[in-house]
Amino acid sequence: MHFPKYTARLSVVFASLFLICSITYKHLSTFLDSKTDIKSRVPSGSQPLANEDALKPPNKSEQICNNFYQSVCKNTEEVSDPTGIVQSDIKGEVEALRLYEMILHEHPAWNNEQVDEELVKRIYTPRRKKMLMESYEWVRKRILLIIEKQSERAIPTQVKKEITKRLETIVLELPPPVSLYSNEPDLFTKNDVYYESLAGNRKVIRVGGAYLLSAKSWFNRVFTLAHEMSHSIDPCELEAANIRVPGYEKLLSCFQEQNHMSQEQFKVGCNKSNFIGEIFSDWIATHIAVQAIELYTSKFKNHEELVNSVINSVKDLCSQESWIGSKSDSHPEAKVRIGNIFGTNPRIQELLSCPNVSKKNGYCTFEGKR
Ligand SMILES: [Zn+2]
Repeated sequence: MHFPKYTARLSVVFASLFLICSITYKHLSTFLDSKTDIKSRVPSGSQPLANEDALKPPNKSEQICNNFYQSVCKNTEEVSDPTGIVQSDIKGEVEALRLYEMILHEHPAWNNEQVDEELVKRIYTPRRKKMLMESYEWVRKRILLIIEKQSERAIPTQVKKEITKRLETIVLELPPPVSLYSNEPDLFTKNDVYYESLAGNRKVIRVGGAYLLSAKSWFNRVFTLAHEMSHSIDPCELEAANIRVPGYEKLLSCFQEQNHMSQEQFKVGCNKSNFIGEIFSDWIATHIAVQAIELYTSKFKNHEELVNSVINSVKDLCSQESWIGSKSDSHPEAKVRIGNIFGTNPRIQELLSCPNVSKKNGYCTFEGKR
């Protein structure tokens, strides 16, 4: 299989040349040594906002309060938050392919394995891996806390133990070596980040190389990792493991009541698609993203930085149709994920200083609508 894989890669690389010519972007050359990577964690605990006047919500905030989904997705241009930007999927993929092309050019005599090893060395640098691992552990602790603080009625103690065990055994797999992704070699140049339950009770999260190049924002990484991690305890995964959680049933009924999912999707459950697992994972990830933004609050220099951090948390979901297909039933529409699950979270709205937060419809919880 050596030659076909190599040929396929080459043709993809050359096809990328066309994309490079047709896409205008200004940040390409700064990807690898970007200064926008996360440099430090903020101290824990939220503090009062530094300058009340400077943080007064400008128009941009009003827009996001009035139509959250539109504000996040209508502009294709990137916004910068204090930790970085979120570029379009295609830019990350083109950049990864350009790297591939560069290595081929520099080392024409190398075989496919050598080229792949060099590619992962350049993308999955020790610094990037360390930062991602830190975010990953931070997210894991936060999800564990969410589970722990639920009432006995919503999640009984024995179930909490099982859920905790599942969360604690997931491994974030990051190359090198290349062999780590041997069953998915194209992942090095893709934006995909995914959770997978493998044989032998092994649970892994894998991160595409292009994602590391395109999503520099810590807020986006937090949301993305939290979403993937949540799949290990989502209603479909637990149903398959014969674990019943009363709080999940309340949560799903509430999603249906709020029209986040149809009666049909509710009835079909986990049999035909993972829709339920996706909506659940977005909901958990929203809580974790809220905590990330709260943690950063004292560091925002103005309200716009806060708004941009909120936007970047879910910015990449705007283009989900390009990777799951426009008529997919596997994921809720981007409008529901961004506008409803994320955008109507009361704490997000409070952080954005949206008016009339208390008058909104309520938000789904493990205890039902609140
Ligand atoms: Zn998912």
